[in-house]
Amino acid sequence: MILILEDDITPEQKNRILSVLRQGGCIIREISEAGQCVIGATGSAGHDIGYFENLPGVAKVVPISTSFKLVSRQMHPHNTVVKVGDVAVGDERIVVVAGPCAVESREQALTIARAVRRYGAVLFRGGAFKPRTSPYSFQGLGEEGLKILAQVREEVGLPVVTEITSPAQADVMVKYVDVVQVGARNMQNFELLKCVGRLGKPVVLKRGLSATIEEWLMSAEYILSEGNDNVILCERGIRTFEPYTRNTLDLSAIPVIKALTHLPVIIDPSHATGMREKVSPMARAAVAAGADGLMIEVHHDPDHALSDGAQSLYPKQFGRLMRNIYVIAPVVGKQVDFGYLDKASAVDHLKQVGGEGARKAGFLGEMGTFSHKACTQYFGDKVVPVPMGSFREIFESMSQGRTTFGVIPLENSLAGSIHQNYDLLLEYDFTIIGEITLRIIHHLVGLPGARTESVKRVFSHPQGFQQCREFLNRHPDWDLVSTKDTAAAVKAVKEKADPADAAIAGKEAAELYEMEIIEEGIETNPRNFTRFVVIGTQPLENGPRCKSSLVYSAGNRPGALFETLKIFAENGINLVKLESRPIHGKPWEYMFYVDVEADVESDAFQPVLQALEEKTDFLRVLGSY
Ligand code: PEP
Ligand code: MN
Repeated sequence: MILILEDDITPEQKNRILSVLRQGGCIIREISEAGQCVIGATGSAGHDIGYFENLPGVAKVVPISTSFKLVSRQMHPHNTVVKVGDVAVGDERIVVVAGPCAVESREQALTIARAVRRYGAVLFRGGAFKPRTSPYSFQGLGEEGLKILAQVREEVGLPVVTEITSPAQADVMVKYVDVVQVGARNMQNFELLKCVGRLGKPVVLKRGLSATIEEWLMSAEYILSEGNDNVILCERGIRTFEPYTRNTLDLSAIPVIKALTHLPVIIDPSHATGMREKVSPMARAAVAAGADGLMIEVHHDPDHALSDGAQSLYPKQFGRLMRNIYVIAPVVGKQVDFGYLDKASAVDHLKQVGGEGARKAGFLGEMGTFSHKACTQYFGDKVVPVPMGSFREIFESMSQGRTTFGVIPLENSLAGSIHQNYDLLLEYDFTIIGEITLRIIHHLVGLPGARTESVKRVFSHPQGFQQCREFLNRHPDWDLVSTKDTAAAVKAVKEKADPADAAIAGKEAAELYEMEIIEEGIETNPRNFTRFVVIGTQPLENGPRCKSSLVYSAGNRPGALFETLKIFAENGINLVKLESRPIHGKPWEYMFYVDVEADVESDAFQPVLQALEEKTDFLRVLGSY
């Protein structure tokens, strides 16, 4: 049950409630929700609801209607984010676990780990104790396999996931691995569940071959009830009458799980389909359906794999899949981050040498804006987002060493470039070190219970109004009030507390201010994306840089721009942006802003850069990322 406490409850009253629950054998979770203090408890400690409602300090008692309690979303309304080293499973970055079905040798594991890391995997998988259908099949290398996994973590820098098949393996698991997996065949091995509940390691809990979602969640409940809340659910296909695939992937489990529980859910399309060519389509669908991550089997020589070769992707296929989900993720509000682990260690290093201040990034506006979201999606929780009053303040604050990074929007797919930021990039001497694209979905946000029919006045940033023009045209009598940013609009509506007010803003701002979305997705064009760049003084990622931004002026001569473009054409360099911008104080003279698909700072590019320098009056590289 959930006990909602009164605002003015005294510590003594609260202690009394907790002790009644504890004595009655309940497991207790204290939750601070919407400014209210709440206690979640399993069981009823032998009393009825009326008894608790009459205890001093209790405002209300809500029974938990499901058989699972600790895993239920009622008990914990916010998503649980499971941390594995620098990797966070369940936030807005898609986590990809990849590797072979089984660890076969040190060389095999290292080869595959290096490949999957290069393509963007952040956790490495590989079985050492394999639960095989036939006793004559390869059973895994056992402890030797675990030692190899530990070496992979050491040499490649990926935390490792492996299956535990018996409580007898608990000690070696603790010694060698980062995440333990309970396999489909063991989902209802209750002694094993209790054991991993006490292990102190995050757990991947696969869905049983013929388990209902409720049975699966009850298994998770076993783990949580032993004190381990770090459970990642993994759907890997269930057994149906359909023989064309190894199992039937139940993608509908994703939204069901998201509603029922706070635990993250990842999808394993490899065991679900059993066939290599079916894996990528299902993985793409899983991301589109809202999965927090994927588990993919990859092998460099699948024909000779000791298990599950037929469903293992070749490393290059895995790379293509990663590129595809990189494109899909922003559509559903998430990101695939190719620099995930590099960034995390670079930020840790910065913190060591520069202290806390080195971990701050400025963004425009308040918490809950799209800029804030870009900041947290780019850095995760490694960097502290710092709200700023203007774009210039972001740059100034970096110049004064108060922040190390800045996150600024450069262009919107509908509204075009944000010229002020291009000007600031030229004025200050910072480098673009990364980019992130967000889909901008606007909602009409009001007070809880507000309705569109009662709205008379709408607050938003002018861009918000512009991007929702068609929706607003349907309500010509509404007064529009401009605010500094979209989050400020929601805040204004909350403060004025008038049901005739509403704001146009994103989901994050609505959640932050505990307001209600009264009309969903009201932007005129759903293909509404904003591209943000991250600025700093040094790159955070070691990976390949595939894009660069340049600014140059080409002089006021016939063919001057053409001469520069010819250099790109002759060198096979793809231009992805070309925009002209007036030079301040020089009427009718222009700067050209160019983005190319190349690493301008690489040695190979230097001759091209030299050729460009010869044909331009001014040239500046804004960054390669
Ligand atoms: C595995 O991940 O290697 C495995 C055996 O999976 P499942 O338990 O889902 O069959
Ligand atoms: Mn397998």
